[in-house]
Amino acid sequence: MKLLVATRSEGKSREIRRILAGVPGWEVVDLSDMAVAPDPAEDDLEPYDTFEENAESKARYFADKTGLPTIADDSGIEIDVLDGAPGVRTKRFAADGGVDVGGLGGQALDAANNAHMVDRLAGVAQEDRTARYVCVAVFVEAGTRHVVCRGEAPGVIVDEGRGDGGFGYDPHVFVPELGRTFAELSAAEKDARSHRGAAFREFAAWLGSRGTRGEVSGGA
Ligand code: IMP
Repeated sequence: MKLLVATRSEGKSREIRRILAGVPGWEVVDLSDMAVAPDPAEDDLEPYDTFEENAESKARYFADKTGLPTIADDSGIEIDVLDGAPGVRTKRFAADGGVDVGGLGGQALDAANNAHMVDRLAGVAQEDRTARYVCVAVFVEAGTRHVVCRGEAPGVIVDEGRGDGGFGYDPHVFVPELGRTFAELSAAEKDARSHRGAAFREFAAWLGSRGTRGEVSGGA
């Protein structure tokens, strides 16, 4: 049975596929495996104020489009001194702050967002730079939302980016216990500590115990 991982982010897709590898009975595929061409409508899939609603919106859209059981996540970073911003607006942090990101995507957009985050925290003391990554994953099958899994991962924002692993904000999110940023962790270390690792391990356990047949009526 195919399971669609519905994201255009290569970084997310890589991590999710790693974590879901080996769930019995499921072949994990992504949008490029299924040759789902990008559509401008995808830009409007995340208008909501909660990670859960945005993740469900993405999962439903791609499940309807492909007819496949689909998992999508919505994720971001909540910075305490900014009252939890950018939160669900993490991908649009720089744009919301008035930075011209017209047409930027991938690593160029990540760089613009990271630079904006550093600017927004100028003058904030190290001890006040606490934050957390949040990931909410929603699974939709045959028009029904079955499970919602949430994971969080704490860190501290640093001005100087370090490391070339991970993606997105990782070079600027420092893990004090390890003395390294998320981008300096190995793939296995990131999965073990990350918000996405936590959410998708919970999902993998649910999916593995349910199997491939849709007999479960519970879930969120
Ligand atoms: P969305 O979930 O597609 O709305 O976007 C998530 C935003 O959070 C993007 O800007 C990502 O780069 C960022 N993000 C999500 N997860 C991670 C992560 O594990 N590391 C670094 N940045 C992340």
